Amino acid sequence: MTIPRLQGAALATVVLVAVGSVAAPTAAGAAPGAPGAARYSAGAASVGDPYFPDQGNGGYDVQHYDLTFSYDPATRFMDATATITAVATQDLDRFNLDFRGPKVSTVTVNGHAHGFTRRGQELIVTPRPKLKAGHTFTVVVKYAGVPGPITDPDGSIEGWVPTDDGAFVAGEPQGAPAWLPTNDHPTDKATFRFTARVPAGLTAVGNGQLLSQKTRDGWTTFTWDSTEPMATYLATITIGNFQVTESTTPSGIPVYVAIDPRLVAGSAAAVAQIPQMIDFFSATFGPYPFASTGAIIDRAPDVGYALETQTKPIFSSAAGVGTMAHELAHQWYGDSVSPERWSDIWLNEGFATYAQWMYTEHTGGASVSQTFNSSSNYGRAASSPFWQTVLADPGPEEMFSNIPYNRGAMTLHALREKIGDGAFFRILRAWAANHRYNHAATADFIALSERESGQKLTAFFDVWLFQKGKPTTW
Ligand code: ZN
Repeated sequence: MTIPRLQGAALATVVLVAVGSVAAPTAAGAAPGAPGAARYSAGAASVGDPYFPDQGNGGYDVQHYDLTFSYDPATRFMDATATITAVATQDLDRFNLDFRGPKVSTVTVNGHAHGFTRRGQELIVTPRPKLKAGHTFTVVVKYAGVPGPITDPDGSIEGWVPTDDGAFVAGEPQGAPAWLPTNDHPTDKATFRFTARVPAGLTAVGNGQLLSQKTRDGWTTFTWDSTEPMATYLATITIGNFQVTESTTPSGIPVYVAIDPRLVAGSAAAVAQIPQMIDFFSATFGPYPFASTGAIIDRAPDVGYALETQTKPIFSSAAGVGTMAHELAHQWYGDSVSPERWSDIWLNEGFATYAQWMYTEHTGGASVSQTFNSSSNYGRAASSPFWQTVLADPGPEEMFSNIPYNRGAMTLHALREKIGDGAFFRILRAWAANHRYNHAATADFIALSERESGQKLTAFFDVWLFQKGKPTTW
């Protein structure tokens, strides 16, 4: 889904425009020189993000993913039908989806069955009739087998992670294709609907709102609807034995919390504060961007991290207060506004970490400047390896190290001290508003900061984002 950029005062008057066509110069079978003739070519096999060069594809723009499946934790077997609605952005005779899941039986495009091939994470589809730029098309992929985890450059696992009572499902930065054919890059957001059939007694918890839940013949079917655009890496449909609690925040946002019964006590403080966290962040960053909120607290000891899955962050062990605040803050920064390239990861992790510092201060803990100066932050020696990575390009092995988190948050605090609270909080709100449901890059943040502060900030951002070494003057 391509969403026009919202800039400053233009906010109120933006109209969604049709996706433009991009004429491809080389064409298999186009009449040479015929004006207006379709020039069909293959969509690119990548969006060109250097951290994950196989991720994403060109030639189309996904609008909606619909996944209907059964999963039995006893056998770990999944039987799935994915229906993907997309708009061609060029005349296409071939396109790819990213898929690392189980065996594909059939692929249809607009109802016509097609041959397909798989190479690495590419599912390569050759639609006939060919697809014209600007036209909407529907791809149906049927597959069945045992999905599994994906290992990241830093050694951590994601994707489809079986647990002792179901599956923990998380996809940052490259796990979604483990179980769903996608255009797997945050620059192509879409709406999602998941219909999951699991053995009765288990719960399947997805992003968005629960549309229905029905038990019949020993199986329960859950349908979850994500009504706002979402990046593929933020999708989840996690399955397990969960205690479910539904409530609403004081401002009326529905809250759905699913907790593994073994983790209820250890997560109680964090869960109790969800409404006040949402309210504090809404007051600070602007309105909560989604139709519902909540959390999924599961036991997946091999995962070891939490993820800001849209509307319901997921935890792989008991949720602490700080981590809950971090993952909920990501709903503004990371989820609604996503990184344009993975090298922009500090825009996710630095913002969520700074929000966590602010929540700590707000609830009577350390002040943000105390945290800034602590021994895990600015107090680190200049010789520490912590300072030896460029924050604006940490590389795929370091993207979830403490560098984007802590140095990212420090960058924001240093900016706040340099330009003052007025300009700083205007920037945070404008960032969330201008790029809502979209993606943005570090250069956009620098431009916004200069605009809102009226200051030239080249030297400031150079020291904090683009240079190695501990900043000393800025
Ligand atoms: Zn984070």
